[in-house]
Amino acid sequence: MVGEGGWLAVVGTGPGDSAWMTPETSAVIAAATDLVGYERYVERVADSGQRRHVSDNREETARAAHALDLAASGARVAVISGGDPGIFAMAAAVWETLERADHERWAAVEIRVTPAVSAIQAVAARAGAPLGNDFCVISLSDNLKPWAVIERRVRLAAEADFALAFYNPISRARPWQLGAAIEAVAAHRAPATPVVLGTAVGRADEALTITDLARFDPAAADMRTLVIVGASTTRVIAAADGRPRVYTPRLYPADY
Ligand code: SAH
Repeated sequence: MVGEGGWLAVVGTGPGDSAWMTPETSAVIAAATDLVGYERYVERVADSGQRRHVSDNREETARAAHALDLAASGARVAVISGGDPGIFAMAAAVWETLERADHERWAAVEIRVTPAVSAIQAVAARAGAPLGNDFCVISLSDNLKPWAVIERRVRLAAEADFALAFYNPISRARPWQLGAAIEAVAAHRAPATPVVLGTAVGRADEALTITDLARFDPAAADMRTLVIVGASTTRVIAAADGRPRVYTPRLYPADY
């Protein structure tokens, strides 16, 4: 980033440890004077003397406004997300805040978003290649959109035979949505369709489960799980190491 004035960069730490943090992200963080973000994400960044402004995970808009204020007053601000900052994360919150507000003092702030590894890529890589053909990504969180919209999207994506990836599958406040989404998919897929659950992938307590629609148990997922449901063509094979792998062939059968 150039210039003497303040700037704001929205960055992502990747889904796991620092091996999945890009060199660009590390460089932006190193150049920053201030780090802004949810405590758990900011903690992951090695301490190199920046001021740290941590907040609760729900306060995205207030956090974005605070980051813009800091940048407007000359700070070099890195807003820290987990995974990729543009996928169900802080980058959209920054643009929302900017669009809604009528703050001339933010007009000169240079804003940039840097890409990062998202949970979906990490979980897919661990499982094999379940996203080798067309797929559809849906957040099951109904905090910011009605459940009816989510349910419709899941149903239509299932009908169109996309592989599906669910972010935010379950939480204490949203206990039934994952089961309902799986039921909606099961109406269009064989019971043996592979399902992958990747939890805390890239961290010390990482877990990967390969199951199928008939045996799927929503209780096996938590807030740190990403769920991938296969398309009709998705297969489970045994790799040479004896562990199963899930992949979706690139070739789609002509007679489907
Ligand atoms: N910006 C993030 C997503 C934030 S939404 C990204 O690009 O990955 C939070 C959801 O991401 C979680 O509920 C979970 O579904 C998924 N997630 C984040 N980190 C994960 C990890 N290490 N392993 C599996 N899923 C993860």
